Amino acid sequence: MEAFLRAYTEPVISIRQKDIGINLRSTPATYLDLSDEIRKLFAKANKVSNTLFSFNSKGACPACGGKGVIVSDMSFMDAIETECELCHGTRYAQEVLEYKYKGKNIAEVMDMTVTEAIGFFAGEEFLIRLQSLEDVGLGYLHLNQAMTTLSGGELQRVKLASELHKKGAVYILDEPTNGLHLDDVRKLLILFNRMVDEGNTLIVIEHSLDVLRQADYVLELGPEGGMSGGRLLYEGTPRGMLTCGVSVTKEYLKDA
Ligand SMILES: [Zn+2]
Repeated sequence: MEAFLRAYTEPVISIRQKDIGINLRSTPATYLDLSDEIRKLFAKANKVSNTLFSFNSKGACPACGGKGVIVSDMSFMDAIETECELCHGTRYAQEVLEYKYKGKNIAEVMDMTVTEAIGFFAGEEFLIRLQSLEDVGLGYLHLNQAMTTLSGGELQRVKLASELHKKGAVYILDEPTNGLHLDDVRKLLILFNRMVDEGNTLIVIEHSLDVLRQADYVLELGPEGGMSGGRLLYEGTPRGMLTCGVSVTKEYLKDA
């Protein structure tokens, strides 16, 4: 990955498994700037200020201050977190939860999965941002889910979702299918092909044969990993790899 980044003089969108720039308070909703949009909808529907619908602001539960938990500091022991009894972990003040948008309160909406939210917010301008999370196979994430609960692969796909909808860009991705189910790998490949059709270049570091098969051009490094690797064994189309004498991967590719 580092070698690719050094070799490219033009800007490259590099998407790694770590360091995607999240903080402890990040959620899919905050990362894609959806929280403000959703608050505005609630504010408009109820004719009140949108700061009311933030648990970091006026909407915070007075008992827990918007944390959803009460932290009891016991001397000589680790602090113990228990769910706040007043807001039951929703983080919002009771009166805020009285306000509804399309029959749901802010806590219920923020607890929706991305897929549910796509149906709920049909017609809204920010739908494309939710759709991008679905496109990278993350439709099951909850809008309010702490990003710290996501795996490296999931974080990478969140980042990818935020960088989608570009044209003529060069992306470099580090094992994007890591930990994905077969179904989601297929979805991701459909997305990759669409990105390439839109004039983007994708450089993908992968072990997955499903991804390899669909590449236009393959570089095989080997013959093994780490110190016993790093030599260029093959370059060309996936089909050409099948007749390459030194390719280690071709046997697996044949089966696939
Ligand atoms: Zn509370």
